[in-house]
Amino acid sequence: MRFTNPPFRSEEEASQFLDRMRWRDEVTCPRCGNADRGFYDMAQARGVASQKSPKGKIRFGLRKCKICRLEFRCTYGTPFHGMKVPLDVLLAAIVRLNNPYTIWSVTDLSRELGVNRDTVTRLVGAVRANSNLKRRRGIDHRELTLEVT
Ligand SMILES: [Zn+2]
Repeated sequence: MRFTNPPFRSEEEASQFLDRMRWRDEVTCPRCGNADRGFYDMAQARGVASQKSPKGKIRFGLRKCKICRLEFRCTYGTPFHGMKVPLDVLLAAIVRLNNPYTIWSVTDLSRELGVNRDTVTRLVGAVRANSNLKRRRGIDHRELTLEVT
């Protein structure tokens, strides 16, 4: 159990939710704009085996464009791109940090999300960068969009 009150219980569910946030109904390749030629589901091709996940980590939401071969997921081109945190933890952080009625200390959020303080600091920076992008574009800050840089 990674956190006490998750909006989603699994990384797979969080991945599907973040996909809908970013693309609504139709996924489009962020590089070439492909939508109708389709994508390879790269979650089936697992990541490198490690001590933590001996079979290799499932890469939820990872796709490969059938035209330009770009591998991407919902965070591609956003301030969250390249972060190593699981998508359910990322979503939990976004939800908590976008709640204007709660102020989190790094220690409390670290405990809540089950990640270390350095990761919390990076998450706070990415959520802030994402909110700044939304504000600059005049998007309601309460809406959970992933802003593409
Ligand atoms: Zn493409």
